[in-house]
Amino acid sequence: MTDHESVVFRSAGRCPTCGNEAEFVAREVWLRDSLRCSACGSIPRERALMSVIDTFLPGWREAVIHESSPAGRGASERLRRECPRYVASQYFPGRQPGSTVNGMRCEDLEALSFPDASIDLHVTQDVFEHVFHPARAFREIARTLAPGGMHVFTVPIVRRHEPSRLRARLEEGRVVHLQPEEYHGNPVGDGRSLVTVDWGFDICRHVFEASGLYTHVVTIDDPGRGIRAEYIEVLVTVKPARGPEGGPIP
Ligand SMILES: [Zn+2]
Repeated sequence: MTDHESVVFRSAGRCPTCGNEAEFVAREVWLRDSLRCSACGSIPRERALMSVIDTFLPGWREAVIHESSPAGRGASERLRRECPRYVASQYFPGRQPGSTVNGMRCEDLEALSFPDASIDLHVTQDVFEHVFHPARAFREIARTLAPGGMHVFTVPIVRRHEPSRLRARLEEGRVVHLQPEEYHGNPVGDGRSLVTVDWGFDICRHVFEASGLYTHVVTIDDPGRGIRAEYIEVLVTVKPARGPEGGPIP
């Protein structure tokens, strides 16, 4: 097989996560994991997320940013490099939220240690399909967001035409599987994460019911930015900014 034949998709342009002129080349049909930037190795959802942050929060370099479970490349790396107030965290079961474990801040999305209204931008990339109590996590994110702040996140919306469904839940600390076990790769722990929720587009309603905040769903298809893939949605939950208070509107 020649090099040309093994390429499934190829485009060129500027990479949103590293900022370089780059080629985007996929050698597998599943572009979501295989369409890599030749310069930084990022994948499409990372470039989509960074593009959305640039659009929705152009002042992100001056913002207080918290990212849960950073990827160590792509958007995570760009945010870390260019934003002085970027904080990354990992969940270490049984450890105190806010403490430092192996040089990394420990945070539980369901019980964040950050004060109210202290974060301008929460970032999570493919994390919310692994959370046992997403409503608690959405509430914690809303609590800690500053007015005008936002949660920009990716999550595979695998239920394109059906409501979200739970795959697994905790009962008295034990995992109960409601669907056959499914795992995604995880850079920490034993290298895999149980999928707890198959999300549908009603995720926006779930965020609203948990937090009272509205969510935008942004879909980008742009080969020039290397953004083409399955499940490419980026979600943006916004906490309204406080303006001057007016009277009631009947
Ligand atoms: Zn790149």
